[in-house]
Amino acid sequence: MRSATHTGRASKIDRVSTGARQARLPHAALVSVVQVRLEVGRAVDAAALTDAVAVCNEAATFASRRAWESRTFHKFALQKTWYGSLRQAFPGLGAQAAVRVFARVAQAYANRRASKKRAHIFRPQGAVPFDARMLSFNRAERRVSVWTPRGRVTLSYTGRFEDLDAIDTLPVGECDLFQRGGRWLLQVSVTLPEPEQRAVKAFLGVDQGIANLAVTSGGAVLPSRALPGTITSNGHVRNLRERRYRQRRRLQCKNTSSARRVARRLSGRESRMMKDVNHQISKYVVREAERTGRGLALEELQGIRGRVRAHRSQRRTLHSWAFGQLIEQCQYKTRRAGIPLVMVDPAYTSQTCPLSLGGCGHTSRRNRPARGRFVCENCGLAGHADTFAAANVAERGEGSWALVNGPHATGDPAASRNTRANPPTTAAKVRRSTGNYLLSAAMRHRVDKPDPSGPGS
Ligand SMILES: [Zn+2]
Repeated sequence: MRSATHTGRASKIDRVSTGARQARLPHAALVSVVQVRLEVGRAVDAAALTDAVAVCNEAATFASRRAWESRTFHKFALQKTWYGSLRQAFPGLGAQAAVRVFARVAQAYANRRASKKRAHIFRPQGAVPFDARMLSFNRAERRVSVWTPRGRVTLSYTGRFEDLDAIDTLPVGECDLFQRGGRWLLQVSVTLPEPEQRAVKAFLGVDQGIANLAVTSGGAVLPSRALPGTITSNGHVRNLRERRYRQRRRLQCKNTSSARRVARRLSGRESRMMKDVNHQISKYVVREAERTGRGLALEELQGIRGRVRAHRSQRRTLHSWAFGQLIEQCQYKTRRAGIPLVMVDPAYTSQTCPLSLGGCGHTSRRNRPARGRFVCENCGLAGHADTFAAANVAERGEGSWALVNGPHATGDPAASRNTRANPPTTAAKVRRSTGNYLLSAAMRHRVDKPDPSGPGS
């Protein structure tokens, strides 16, 4: 039996990209990560685990340097060229561990976690991925058997009830082994059962932008005080990012190696802040859609950049906010909640008078007399521009959904009205675009796993 982790994922992606017929695509499994603690009582076991982590990381750095020098980044090509010298350099490394090393190096370069500008160095104490051959579960006894260079070690594990329960009941995938604060921890990826998708007629629309990161058709402007966490407004996010930007610029002027190190740390902090804000927003909108029995409609990513004509001062922020990340997070969370997500064509959503708010559907640039404000030049309907845009996104979501779901569409006047208003949005396009987001979400899955090494390292 071959290790299913990577080959399996690749073939799944192939199937998605060749196009599926039904509305629900066959796609990568819904994966979540839980954490348990290994009970390492004996010093000899702890030493064996330390050895395992050290040798795997050293070997990965060794292989990464060879990969970078020879400009070979593909797993099999790497393995073919360097397997012999890797085994020779690290006699403690087993055959399976050696194979995993190449997979890990290839993945690091593919994920852009490692820049190809220089060889990626794996931290000596960094978390090491173990597949089923290197680490196996005895779920009945809640024990794992772990490969180490000194032979296999069997250990009990404990953790929070829900995490243990997940491991007891769900299919278990790859694990990350690492040590933190003197404890040995294991992050285990588990495959979640996917709930049946609910039937919905209405959609919650979300307008993503720079002035306001996300505005819903329900009128919520996010981030806001409704979200948990320290960040309570867009202004707050903007201030933080402006400050970081100025700090980075100052450091770039200095251009010393310590300045570069600080700059890297700051950018890491900023991307974690962004990810956290996106997480809060996606959680809020998915829960809001779920609570009100609606689906979720978002704009396709390319539109968010192309459509908005940003002020010069905002352009930088615009191009570096992780809009795609929010889409991916919504993708994951809607699947987990069993509600449909529709990606809509974003053209003119900000210039169209929304029918769902009693407007006339008139589209014109002149409907936007001032920034943030919408006044229809035809019927006079006026209001918050982003809320109106979100209402248009919701309307298009409903139209597309009705179209994809065939027979329901015919009798629904709202649906036909929408299709007339938005000719480019066809069922095929909706299917293709959701497929692409699924695909990218699947490929970047590993990036989304929490970094066990914590901030700043
Ligand atoms: Zn109007």
